[in-house]
Amino acid sequence: MRLPAEIRRYSRMMLGVFELARTPAIADPEQTLRRNLENRAANFLDLVARAVYANPENPYHKMLRLAQCEYRDMERAVQRDGLEPTLVELLRAGVYLTHDELKGKAPIVRSGELISAGEHSYDNPSTPAGIETRSGGSRSKGTLTQHSVAAQIHWEQYQRLLARELGIQHDAFVALLPILPSISGLMVSLRGAQYDWQVEKWYALSGNQRDYAHSRAAATRAMILIGKMAGAPCTFPTYLPENDFSPVAEYIARRKIAGKRCCLGGFVSPAVRVAAAAIERGWDISGTVFSVGGEALTPAKRATMEAAGGEVYPFYAIVEFGPVGYACRRMKTGNCVHLFEDLVAAISRKRLAPLSETEVDSLLFTTLTPFASRALINAEMDDSGIIEKVNCDCLFGQLGYGRQIRDIASYGKLTGQGMTLAGTDVVRVLEETLPRRLGGSAGDYQLVEEEGPAQTVMTLRVSPRAGRLRPDEVRECFLEELKAHRGGTVAASTWRHAEGVKVIIAEPLATPTGKVLPLHLLGARKSDLKAPALNFAAY
Ligand SMILES: [Zn+2]
Repeated sequence: MRLPAEIRRYSRMMLGVFELARTPAIADPEQTLRRNLENRAANFLDLVARAVYANPENPYHKMLRLAQCEYRDMERAVQRDGLEPTLVELLRAGVYLTHDELKGKAPIVRSGELISAGEHSYDNPSTPAGIETRSGGSRSKGTLTQHSVAAQIHWEQYQRLLARELGIQHDAFVALLPILPSISGLMVSLRGAQYDWQVEKWYALSGNQRDYAHSRAAATRAMILIGKMAGAPCTFPTYLPENDFSPVAEYIARRKIAGKRCCLGGFVSPAVRVAAAAIERGWDISGTVFSVGGEALTPAKRATMEAAGGEVYPFYAIVEFGPVGYACRRMKTGNCVHLFEDLVAAISRKRLAPLSETEVDSLLFTTLTPFASRALINAEMDDSGIIEKVNCDCLFGQLGYGRQIRDIASYGKLTGQGMTLAGTDVVRVLEETLPRRLGGSAGDYQLVEEEGPAQTVMTLRVSPRAGRLRPDEVRECFLEELKAHRGGTVAASTWRHAEGVKVIIAEPLATPTGKVLPLHLLGARKSDLKAPALNFAAY
């Protein structure tokens, strides 16, 4: 019974929302963040002492025992070598979690011993649950994570710095974010004013009046009413027509005519659709600041937003950790952000992307703050990136954030019929090559890997926006272009032979939180993807 459980959950959440709406912002964000940065090693030790060493049931407790690392050893190593070198040593000694282990999809085995873990095994015992959110993974239904009000209040400090760094305090802020169970939109609506964002509009992703989305829309409305009762100047979401982002582009263009610059904040792929809609209709949205994240900002997606005259600044947020980093004004290329080192410690390791021949720098994150919802050490998120020192005179740099992560990407791979193709190569064909050769833009082609009755089938969905295309023509072009990439020749001939790739002219599928990703790998449950109701011509 989904509905009563949801109502119970949302009732609990109302208390958190009420408390949050009444809590003032932290008075001096610079000073607080600087102090946290200075105390990061001590904060980490304190967190592992309370959440891990004091709890024999915690999976990390067992990993550390197998690594023969007592609390005193860890304390000594951190003080002697520093936090990151200690984390590298811990990784070598088996103290880490792969993404699948963290999500409970793979058993945790260290030194031949099976370590049991459950959904709440990593919870920080001293953090009260307040606000619940669901991650919008492309491969699963997403994970529920509880965050305390203190965590939300802390995260706002980065958003306030961002507003000053990008100079958007006086711009009209237009949010393009999902409704509940994701809390990203609700938080901007409730707290945007505390970040110094002038939130004028919240366009809802993933919300419509069908099926259980109806209860999600009602719950969202209830939370906003509670926020208003508590005195917060909240914005209600505006629902978009199915698969149409032009109202957002139109709003931004109208505000521009009225002399107001807009900042569009939200996930990458919907923001790209807004830019594409403006270009298509000849609306002038130049000067708009795009603050985008939630999925990798690829060169093609950046190019579309820039073609509309936008300034593009990525952010990198992870549901389990919060806002891990923001780009400053100097970071104008690639997918690069300052790393918020008071919130997390990050290291990377070279590994082969799962079942692939591609080597990636896989990122591992460790929680540091006392209000972290979970105590995680070296948790891998299946994201890759290069961590390096940066000397920057921006607001983040001045505060002491001296490391950046660049080239952030999600790695994954197509495993269909035993072929090995790096996800990044396939994404390039989908986002760059096919639009160039056949028409359309990034976001119009999506490859969905799914288990058919007899074999793994790749369905290439082509948006009708790409033009009048014949499915067989698209299929040939796609297979031909794959050959330019490692493993592509064999894959192309295998898939051609087995009819492993089918093309349909239909809108790409969206995840529960409204992202439209170029690649959906096997494991994404069909029911989690939502087909937009639009001219569907099957092949
Ligand atoms: Zn900077």
